[in-house]
Amino acid sequence: MQSVNPYTESVRAEYDEHDDEAVEAALSRAIDAFGEWRERSLTDRRELLADAGEVLRDRDEEFAELMTEEMGKPISQARSEVEKCAWVCDYYAEHAAEHLQEKTVNGPKDAETYVRYDPLGPILAVMPWNFPLWQVFRFAAPHLTSGNVGLLKHASNVPGCAKVIEEVFSEAGYPEGVFQSLLVDSDQVEDVVADERVRAVTLTGSGPAGRAVAEQAGRNLKKSVLELGGSDPFVVLDDAPIDEAAETGARARTINSGQSCIAAKRFIVHDDVYDEFVEKFVAEMEALQVGDPKDDDTDVGPQAREDLLSDLQEQVEETVEMGATVETGGEPLDREGYFYPPTVLTDVPRDSPGAREELFGPAASVFRVESEEAAVELANDSQYGLGGSVWTTDLERGKEVAGRIDSGAVFVNELTKSDPRLPFGGVKESGYGRELGKEGIREFVNRKTVFVQ
Ligand code: NDP
Repeated sequence: MQSVNPYTESVRAEYDEHDDEAVEAALSRAIDAFGEWRERSLTDRRELLADAGEVLRDRDEEFAELMTEEMGKPISQARSEVEKCAWVCDYYAEHAAEHLQEKTVNGPKDAETYVRYDPLGPILAVMPWNFPLWQVFRFAAPHLTSGNVGLLKHASNVPGCAKVIEEVFSEAGYPEGVFQSLLVDSDQVEDVVADERVRAVTLTGSGPAGRAVAEQAGRNLKKSVLELGGSDPFVVLDDAPIDEAAETGARARTINSGQSCIAAKRFIVHDDVYDEFVEKFVAEMEALQVGDPKDDDTDVGPQAREDLLSDLQEQVEETVEMGATVETGGEPLDREGYFYPPTVLTDVPRDSPGAREELFGPAASVFRVESEEAAVELANDSQYGLGGSVWTTDLERGKEVAGRIDSGAVFVNELTKSDPRLPFGGVKESGYGRELGKEGIREFVNRKTVFVQ
């Protein structure tokens, strides 16, 4: 397995893949570890999680640099990602007990009835490269703490991240087998899902990967959670604060060099403020610093892989061929590294890739609408339903519009972001199930009813 630096286009390291024998040994360690881990007190498990947060903070610069080298994330954002991983550890270290507290429910008068939340067993996490630490900690922090054990199949372009995540848990003092990285190819996943020792699977990534793993999980009657792509609407109403919307919109589109499932992708702007918004939004996009991801001042680094850059290029070209106008950007930069500049497309046809597909890079599609009604209709005209953002100075109106958008989250006057305290996930083809918060930790537990006569 190779990790290629997308800034220099050179191989930075090579890793041996795990063969079937190594996978078998890992599964066997996982099920053995589960037997003891589930018996550890919740207090112990919470303390170990807090220690994992400390390891992350101790090694933050090293981990930030590793992400930047493996997938090109601007270093300032990589540092924030490590800190966010430590935060999710702190959060569940503090709140897991309250989220997993047995719940008394009223059954027959003369019986004691309650629900307890027991772990399921080894859980497979198939994870992507875009937030190579965060996506994994968002899985591991709650689900190891509830007593499950984790097996990570990370994306093939970030094996270095997969290795160091395993190190975080072992340095923190987790018993062997509680968290393991499997360095395997995606076609080895099916056998792991089918293995009777594995009790559930979660995947973050593209629709095709999600469908494949959900089918395998279904065939084997295993619980699955999917966090897939998005094409989030960013709705600018006629009373929106335009300066703020334009500035935040540019950040929302280009965070992680545009490679985020909850990036704002479709900018739906009311006719009354359209010209002003587009002018300011284009200026904000053009002001972003594109360059060396290790430079503290860089806002947009390279795309993570060459094939992802060419996919994006094709989507933009097709959208333009179908009638869109390029306001800025529009083609890869002629330099070393997989660079695509901040791009703004207007007059985007509703049947073009810019409207219908996920553009996983810093290219924004802007649409003009005549009314709030039309904005909501267009926002919902998507196969996806992950996040969304609504801009207005009237908060009641913002809440009302938020209620009509079909997605797993809507943020009023803010960009969509994940937060350990708040449930996160999608509807429609953005997936199902929730991560984070109380809802997240309860996805992979046996909600067991106990009836005592
Ligand atoms: P993938 O969905 O292919 O990869 C995500 C993870 O799934 C990786 O670990 C990958 O392994 C694994 N995987 C892929 N196919 C299968 C399969 N059939 N069975 C089991 N596991 C599988 O994403 P890509 O990296 O190819 O990115 C393509 C597009 O996906 C992006 O342009 C973007 O639109 C979307 N995407 C969305 C993300 C999100 O956060 N919602 C994150 C990443 C991508 P391996 O690396 O070995 O192939």
